[in-house]
Amino acid sequence: MQSPHPDVTDFVQPAPPDLRKPESCPALVLNADFRPLSYYPLSLWSWQDTVKAVFLDRVNIVSNYDTVVHSPSTDFVLPSVVSLKTYVKPPRYPAFTRFNVFLRDGFSCQYCGEPQDLTFDHVIPRRAGGRTTWENVVAACSPCNLRKGGRMPKQAKMTPRQKPIQPTVYQLHENGRRFPPNYCHDSWQDYLYWDTELEP
Ligand SMILES: [Zn+2]
Repeated sequence: MQSPHPDVTDFVQPAPPDLRKPESCPALVLNADFRPLSYYPLSLWSWQDTVKAVFLDRVNIVSNYDTVVHSPSTDFVLPSVVSLKTYVKPPRYPAFTRFNVFLRDGFSCQYCGEPQDLTFDHVIPRRAGGRTTWENVVAACSPCNLRKGGRMPKQAKMTPRQKPIQPTVYQLHENGRRFPPNYCHDSWQDYLYWDTELEP
């Protein structure tokens, strides 16, 4: 939670990877209901883990890359999307991480709305007993963080735009629509919500 000035670009890969290399071919892992197993981070397995799961009969292959790996006895086309054979119940609440706090707050300062130079602010300062929890930590730009200093919200006349709460996984997914990763393999698109729009 202590990185100096992270922003959304810290959390996405540069695009696009070299798909001729197996190392650049992770598989998107779907739950048995064909939704990604997780969004943040996106559930991806290395090609080695994916091949292992296929041989252990734990997953169905949904889509493939053009990339082939060779072993002495066989050739294996690398899966780009797999789905679990057994449904895993997704957690209701997301992990309390740097990324998820920023995502909850829409990657914008909760005092002035700026998206740049984001840090974390303890609404009730730590020295006044404020804890590092969903309910007391918000995204804040450096200038606002400095301006507020160790003061209470009332003293500083700075109140977060939204009351900080523990979001549900569903709420984070909704926010995530606005922050797509900048690289997705074509075969993943059908299974990721950020590319889908309902017909009017
Ligand atoms: Zn600010």
